[in-house]
Amino acid sequence: MTHPVAGSGRPALSATDRTTHRRLREQGRADRADLLAVLRAGFIAHLGVVVDGTPMVIPTSYGFDDDTLYLHGSVASRSLAGAAQACVTITLVDGLVLARSVFEHAVNYRSAMIYGTPRLVTDPAEKLHGLHLLSEHLAPGQWDYARQPSRKELAATSLLALPLAEASVKIRTGPPDDADSPDAALGLWAGELPLVSSWGEPVPDPDLPAGTRVPPHLVARAGTRAFDAGR
Ligand SMILES: Cc1cc2nc3c(=O)[nH]c(=O)nc-3n(C[C@H](O)[C@H](O)[C@H](O)COP(=O)(O)OP(=O)(O)OC[C@H]3O[C@@H](n4cnc5c(N)ncnc54)[C@H](O)[C@@H]3O)c2cc1C
Repeated sequence: MTHPVAGSGRPALSATDRTTHRRLREQGRADRADLLAVLRAGFIAHLGVVVDGTPMVIPTSYGFDDDTLYLHGSVASRSLAGAAQACVTITLVDGLVLARSVFEHAVNYRSAMIYGTPRLVTDPAEKLHGLHLLSEHLAPGQWDYARQPSRKELAATSLLALPLAEASVKIRTGPPDDADSPDAALGLWAGELPLVSSWGEPVPDPDLPAGTRVPPHLVARAGTRAFDAGR
């Protein structure tokens, strides 16, 4: 059973038994916009399925639109073929939370879990749409810059779709939780150690002919923050 988010017409998150937060509930988010922000900021998904009775968790890249998560590649398709259920997680680490006591140490993070039944995309138009989303999510500008997939390459590529319908988001921000505890009297430093990632300068393939210019979309990306929801 899902409930619409007021004004959006789309179902809210955390609406099913398995996506309802029970522990660390204050970190839970029920807004669909938070799910999309985590997906925008992330790069790598971990896809969990049970194959022949064995749990497998596979790191893989992804793309998405408002309604669907797309995963591609033969590894993903092999693990998902016939899987009745999948759970995909996206995790972003924003820093360490260093408390007065070891017990209260934590991680500042943004994470999402998406549950659903994966679907193999066979419609050529949807396949191109999903691959375009995936490519542009990882490397904006490359779809138009690089040679696009041939019919043969498309046929050799598997694409899986998972509805963005049943999902859960948790986000932790801020300082440690023990400022009000007796440990505050210990006189120890406590706080956050942010983790920041950024894109480096493009490194040319040594086999490039001399004078091949770095395309502007890659020049522009160098030095910008990675894992940033704002991009
Ligand atoms: C990088 C990182 C490090 C973490 N380190 C710790 C740690 O050391 N100890 C610890 O207790 N917890 C840690 N967490 C939080 C952890 O992921 C769980 O949220 C927490 O343990 C409670 O999970 P639960 O399943 O027991 O309860 P609940 O949160 O009540 O689980 C109910 C449902 O909420 C959803 N859910 C649970 N966790 C998440 C999540 N992280 N993101 C999105 N949806 C979620 C699932 O659908 C789950 O079925 C960490 C999270 C991240 C991202």
